[in-house]
Amino acid sequence: MTDSNRTLAEIASCLADYDPNALPVAQAQAILAAVVTPVQAIEQVALRSALDRVLAADIISPIDVPAHDNSAMDGYAVRGSDLDGGQAVTLKVVGTAYAGDAETAPVEPGQCLRIMTGAVMPAGCDTVIPQEFTASAGEGAIRFEAGVVQAGDNRRFAGEDLKAGSAALTAGAMLRPAHLGLLASLGIAEVPVRRRLRVAFFSTGNELRSIGQTLDAGCVYDSNRYTLFGMLTRLGCDLIDMGVVPDDPASLEAALRTACESADAVVTSGGVSVGAADYTKQIMAQLGDVAFWKIGMRPGRPMAFGKITSNGKSAWLFGLPGNPVAVMVTFTFMARGALMRMMGAADAPLPMLQARSEAPIRKKPGRTEYQRGIVSRDADGRAQVRITGAQGSGILRSMCEANCMVVLGDAQGSVAAGDLVDVLLFDGLT
Ligand code: AMP
Ligand code: MG
Repeated sequence: MTDSNRTLAEIASCLADYDPNALPVAQAQAILAAVVTPVQAIEQVALRSALDRVLAADIISPIDVPAHDNSAMDGYAVRGSDLDGGQAVTLKVVGTAYAGDAETAPVEPGQCLRIMTGAVMPAGCDTVIPQEFTASAGEGAIRFEAGVVQAGDNRRFAGEDLKAGSAALTAGAMLRPAHLGLLASLGIAEVPVRRRLRVAFFSTGNELRSIGQTLDAGCVYDSNRYTLFGMLTRLGCDLIDMGVVPDDPASLEAALRTACESADAVVTSGGVSVGAADYTKQIMAQLGDVAFWKIGMRPGRPMAFGKITSNGKSAWLFGLPGNPVAVMVTFTFMARGALMRMMGAADAPLPMLQARSEAPIRKKPGRTEYQRGIVSRDADGRAQVRITGAQGSGILRSMCEANCMVVLGDAQGSVAAGDLVDVLLFDGLT
């Protein structure tokens, strides 16, 4: 369904019951996913620089990892058939194998080889007796009790991590520390990644002051630009911070034009709500194909989305609401997925857990509510969650106290104490 040439109206007309004034969360997310497309440019970067970048091609393993059968323990490599007797075993130690040794001495029946973790298994041996199960049995011999290990124990097989020729990673993977390690284990020094997404962002509102300015009567410091800076940085975007844009048509038009000429996506906050007595919506609408949604969610009901164009250059516009918590919620549940898709990342649903609500939560069916919560463990070690008090969409302090978002879906009514609720842990997200 991905088609960036269709207008939003055309896409929306394919959806049964599209109503921009009462748009369910899932429908808004589906529209976002349907219209945005990944940036095409690819660059080759050194492994360390690939951290938090999106892999642009499948990586086929050039080698078996590990390259040979090897020991998983420090101990003695033995032939499994020497364990068959059902009684204590005494074996002659014929040498020592260290990790990194190219060859190991052959081991005959009745013999064993002292072996270190990672050392190549000697021919004929399929089992390692851990050091701590063995005792000296005189000069050059060891002894261990029957049944301490089974034949085949404590051996790692060649290729058990990855087989030569198999897909080690697939395009679209977000390269995290484990991925860097895996690529290093294949001896790969450079990987192709998508170019970083360029995102311009600014805050709108005459009441906003920047840090360092005097806080005049009736004004607030602009906090959204800092939360957005943090969340966009964590996503791995290249940022263009355009500051606070005052609420006059010329300034807003100039800012939106500059943003869309220099970035793939533009993220703004403020001025998109129903009562907003400013020019933001008007100017956004003038510059492109922009829908003004009322999404069935709380916080974060109003949001503008569309494509704006200036001097032949286009960018996707995410016009987030102004309230500080609403900005974070709409970014996380609306903009983030679309930006990830633009980055070329494979779809990865946000990992939700379930936790028992410690107390009742009032909730109206018919919209999705995102409540700030604190997950902990109860006496039995099970996840439980409590809400961080007042949930006003301007109360950023409670975002700082919270370690998760409790997600109460459209169909959900009030929650009773002890009910299971969906929870999105914040770590790495906010
Ligand atoms: P708006 O959506 O523009 O009507 O703004 C809703 C509320 O969010 C108002 O109380 C604004 O003052 C506040 N707000 C808007 N933008 C910001 C911002 N960048 N930082 C802090 N508060 C903001
Ligand atoms: Mg405003």
